[in-house]
Amino acid sequence: MAFLDKINDFAKTATEKTNNAIETAKLSAKIDSEQRSLNDIIRKIGEHYVAKIDAGEVLDEEVMAIYEGVLASRKTIAELRAEIESLKTPKNPEGGSAEDSSCKFCPYCGKELDVSAKFCLNCGKQQP
Ligand SMILES: [Zn+2]
Repeated sequence: MAFLDKINDFAKTATEKTNNAIETAKLSAKIDSEQRSLNDIIRKIGEHYVAKIDAGEVLDEEVMAIYEGVLASRKTIAELRAEIESLKTPKNPEGGSAEDSSCKFCPYCGKELDVSAKFCLNCGKQQP
């Protein structure tokens, strides 16, 4: 019964393929999960060194160059936060400055600070 054998073979192959697909999906999910753990560890290493540089340490040139990106992002975040703040603050109907002078934002980390603050409470950087 060569014909039935062929059908059996076909069914077996199909089952195998399905099982392999399920196994592949399981393994891919494990890889994704492990990749997330790895990314988390790398992020922690990054945060560790950023904290050091924030505290005044100077690391090698390449790291310092990457750190410029951190500063740029913090500055952008601070500017965007200030923009949100200016949207919240009702415009002065007298036409004077609508700027709220009681607070400012750290240009390094974006933390909201008292306008008189000389240093950031969050990152410790001297304020301009
Ligand atoms: Zn700060």
